Amino acid sequence: MQITGDMLIGGAAVRGNAGTLRAFDPARNVEMEPEFGAGDANDVDRACRLAQAAFDPFRQAPLETRARLLETIAERILALGDALIERGHAESALPKARLEGERARTVGQLKLFAQLVRDGRWLTATLDSALPDRKPLPRSDLRLQKIPVGPVAVFGASNFPLAFSVAGGDTASALAAGCPVVVKAHPAHLGTSELVGRAIQEAVAECGLPAGVFALVLGAGNAVGEALVAHPAIKAVGFTGSRGGGIALMNIAARRREPIPVYAEMSSINPCFVLPGALAARADAVANGFVDSLTLGVGQFCTNPGLVVVLDGPHRQAFIDAAAKALEKKGAQTMLTAGIASAYRDGVKKRAEVEGVSHVAQGASTDAHHSALPELFATTQQRFLAAPPLEDEIFGPTSLVVTCANVEEMIELAEHLEGQLTATLQMEPEDVELARKLVPTLERKAGRILANGFSTGVEVSHAMVHGGPFPATSDPRSTSVGTLAIERFLRPVCYQDLPAELLPQAVQDDNPLNLWRLRDGAFERR
Ligand code: NAP
Repeated sequence: MQITGDMLIGGAAVRGNAGTLRAFDPARNVEMEPEFGAGDANDVDRACRLAQAAFDPFRQAPLETRARLLETIAERILALGDALIERGHAESALPKARLEGERARTVGQLKLFAQLVRDGRWLTATLDSALPDRKPLPRSDLRLQKIPVGPVAVFGASNFPLAFSVAGGDTASALAAGCPVVVKAHPAHLGTSELVGRAIQEAVAECGLPAGVFALVLGAGNAVGEALVAHPAIKAVGFTGSRGGGIALMNIAARRREPIPVYAEMSSINPCFVLPGALAARADAVANGFVDSLTLGVGQFCTNPGLVVVLDGPHRQAFIDAAAKALEKKGAQTMLTAGIASAYRDGVKKRAEVEGVSHVAQGASTDAHHSALPELFATTQQRFLAAPPLEDEIFGPTSLVVTCANVEEMIELAEHLEGQLTATLQMEPEDVELARKLVPTLERKAGRILANGFSTGVEVSHAMVHGGPFPATSDPRSTSVGTLAIERFLRPVCYQDLPAELLPQAVQDDNPLNLWRLRDGAFERR
């Protein structure tokens, strides 16, 4: 499939006339062909109006059609073959094997949402029978189902050009809910975005759905993204990226005449608490596992372990020495973009200047362009609490080991933390009592709590939560990974005493969709 540098609106390729954009190969340090035409507010308006017009036909189409759409997108992405992997590799500097894994995850995610659509439990079909003889007042016949919120704007993430981008989790969950999607392509992988966008566009046509179900817009600068979030047809936003970007979009959404929810996944340092039993039993193994997790994908994961918390004692130094030794063997590698590499270097420089922070180890230099050198720092609990910038995410392969003088300091540190995507406990059976003290605090702080694992690596499943209190996300009630992500794009509607002819299928008496339903407080399927 040819990359033309066009936007994808209304089932067609549309040339943007508001400036030009180029993809960049950070590993080779060169701009790439072709030139992309940037859109403007008029292009956004057209894409959003088409999405609005497509909303009712799309949400009212049979669930089977919606499930087929998701599966057809998956098939079309696979049919792109090596061209997709080659382009993604050139634009992101991510290894091809990693991108192949990410493609499998993206396709698997689309198929999982197709299954979910067919299953229909997300409709939350609920029936409360009329009680005409109830005293003092009769009860009406009440029936509830969830419906999609409307067109959704999606901002892909730089660090997952496939799984968190054009056909990533936000798009898959919004389409599964029945919401048309307008994607703002991430400037770090323009060609990859176009290829995947074309796959979706073809799938929409193949399934006989209105072309407005999907659009891909391009912008030079923030204006296109701002216009998209401000557009009255858009009813929710999915975003993964920086804290500054997420907050800017939240502010635009809140200032609209009709404010809308923004589901932004932004910043997390993913604390790892190495409890004393684990430190004594396997300091070396934990240190090596931690460094592998920290440097995986050049540290460009939202679940990167940016904070390690240990207790002072005989094994603390062994852990730090082992981590330093492991880190020194890791070489500098090219980051996703020149901007991300330069933000990383600035962040590391500022951290090194914070009073009371010591530099523990540095990775091996290489001649890679736009690279990040792995860096490890250490400080005490008291310095950490006194210097709020130490809690800021530095996107890349750097982490901070914080030593607590005693258990009380460790609990105080946990209590002090901002919201996180994950919190990890490295523990042995003798650590259970301390873990029991930490868990209630960690539940309030994080979306996912792990024991004896590493936070990088997020399963796409029914029980996954990739979310957490601010600043990890803008809304702690949701997840951006896993089937629960569909809830972000649904809202409940109650039908009171509606005649049978007007009731949606999900709540009709004879249950034509064969759903599990809550009838008068009990689950049934009949
Ligand atoms: P970003 O700069 O926040 O950009 C993400 C997307 O949002 C891009 O499409 C960008 O488009 C758009 N955008 C950003 N600010 C905007 C604004 N004010 N108005 C309208 N649109 C806006 O994130 P990034 O480029 O992916 O990475 C930069 C930083 O994000 C990293 O250094 C890291 O700190 C963080 N990050 C975090 C995660 C995570 O999972 N937590 C993942 C990736 C990155 P334009 O640039 O075209 O405006």
